[in-house]
Amino acid sequence: MPTSNLGKFIRGFERFRQDYFRGNTELFDKLRHGQDPDALVISCCDSRADPAIITNCAPGDLFVARDVANLVPPYEPDGGHHGVSASVEYAVLCLGVEHIVVLGHSQCGGIGALVDGGVHGAGGEFIGRWMSICQDEVRAVLEATEGEPDDTRRRACEQAAILVSLRNLMSFPWVRERVEAGRLCLHGWYFDIRRGELSVYAPEELAFRPLVSGEERLRAPRQASAAG
Ligand SMILES: [Zn+2]
Repeated sequence: MPTSNLGKFIRGFERFRQDYFRGNTELFDKLRHGQDPDALVISCCDSRADPAIITNCAPGDLFVARDVANLVPPYEPDGGHHGVSASVEYAVLCLGVEHIVVLGHSQCGGIGALVDGGVHGAGGEFIGRWMSICQDEVRAVLEATEGEPDDTRRRACEQAAILVSLRNLMSFPWVRERVEAGRLCLHGWYFDIRRGELSVYAPEELAFRPLVSGEERLRAPRQASAAG
């Protein structure tokens, strides 16, 4: 028997229905007729990195695809079951989103599996194969950062995986076409759970730069939330 039960989720739904659903009738009346999200977010399954919560979004704002380590596979129209690719296709071709955000995070178990190796590393029936999407880049980062603190190396690997996803997104012809025409923007974001910090990839600097740091958030909460 499981040691926990789903009672808190049921009570949570009751509160949602009572407060949020009934308190936002205009929003839900609109959403009944369809969705028009501003962005597709591809994020990790990790329970600590929920994109809608960390961006303070409402229902209808984000179209979200979650998978292990927020990876996007390359464009492979080979008849396989490509869940993430289907999400990208729907968001871009059917919903016409203007932004795709690949949202990575600190302490990612998927990346940790690749970094640490071992039974969780290459193992499992599906995870090892899935993580092979970024294994070459992670290996290269580990070689380049040898001797540096584990935290730094792990962070560099997590951020490298975001770049792999961005690169693979560009292998989808209809993504590339829209990006080149200026109709679609790709973004790499990194959420640091420990620091409560969001960093954004700056292509001109080839680096992630803090957008809202934990310190700023504590010092000037109003400014920080306006920027976010
Ligand atoms: Zn993760």
